[in-house]
Amino acid sequence: MTDSDRADPLSPEPSAPTRCGFVALIGAPNVGKSTLVNALVGSKVTIVSRKVQTTRALIRGIAIDNHSQIILVDTPGIFSPRRRLDRAMVLTAWSGAHDADLVCMLIDAKTGIDEEADSILGKLGGVAHEKLLVINKIDLVPRENLLALVKAANDRLSFARTFMISALSGDRVDDLRHALAEMVPPGPFLYPEDQMSDAPMRQLAAEITREKIYLKLHQELPYQSTVETDSWSERKDKSIRIEQTIFVERESQRKIVLGKGGATIKSIGEESRKDIAEIVGVPVHLFLFVKVRENWGDDPDRYREMGLEFPKE
Ligand code: GDP
Ligand code: MG
Repeated sequence: MTDSDRADPLSPEPSAPTRCGFVALIGAPNVGKSTLVNALVGSKVTIVSRKVQTTRALIRGIAIDNHSQIILVDTPGIFSPRRRLDRAMVLTAWSGAHDADLVCMLIDAKTGIDEEADSILGKLGGVAHEKLLVINKIDLVPRENLLALVKAANDRLSFARTFMISALSGDRVDDLRHALAEMVPPGPFLYPEDQMSDAPMRQLAAEITREKIYLKLHQELPYQSTVETDSWSERKDKSIRIEQTIFVERESQRKIVLGKGGATIKSIGEESRKDIAEIVGVPVHLFLFVKVRENWGDDPDRYREMGLEFPKE
């Protein structure tokens, strides 16, 4: 028997102390936060979209690396809020940063430090936790451009470490995961090891349908719909029956969502059903309803449904 033969899974595990902590991902919309959560965790847990601002609530992915559990808080993009709903998203994002053990600030390598990144850098100064700089999308720019960007960002704010990654291709994502694993505080795991995401499935399913509406209708229906999962039940054959209601603000919007002869809602339902089924791993029967509810944007209950705080003004 050689030495390498002995280093097998049968040898007793050294009882190394575990680590566990919350890591907030902060960055402008579209910088790649959701993509990074998926790359770190290794399975689809949050909604990724080319359109800005599709993540309304905090969704966590959980990555395990060696003896560490890394709980990722994928925050909504931070931008200058105008509407009440937008302000709620921003409030939620910043409370995520203050509650976390570590903060990763993402910057898009191609966009660089634009107005949004600049304002985030300013605000991050007030967050006490250790901060990491993550330059994402390095696949899109020549390497020599990166160093100037790293320097400019570090001149603005003192980062504990800097990483240059591509969340999409996975380049250097392992390095980042290892670093996070070393930096989260010592402590027991907070979630069972096989748990990838604690986002309640109902909420995730609602978000998937909302994403489909958005992708299909964003020109006709900008930001004026919300989706709630009303029921979720497992049938005898293990398939899942889900009922959801799409809320819009006006009758004219209801007609847009339904489409001619119900064609639009049918295709939204088909696409959403496919995605939900892929995540839950069993067949899904999805029933969609469209209701008009005026001023849902000012209704505190809708915000609670989405896991957001309701801004006072
Ligand atoms: P978020 O708004 O910050 O959550 O950004 P998303 O994760 O939704 O990503 C926005 C867009 O950027 C999507 O089209 C992603 O595929 C793309 N993207 C994310 N990471 C990378 C990357 O490393 N390289 C490239 N080329 N595109 C990326
Ligand atoms: Mg996102």
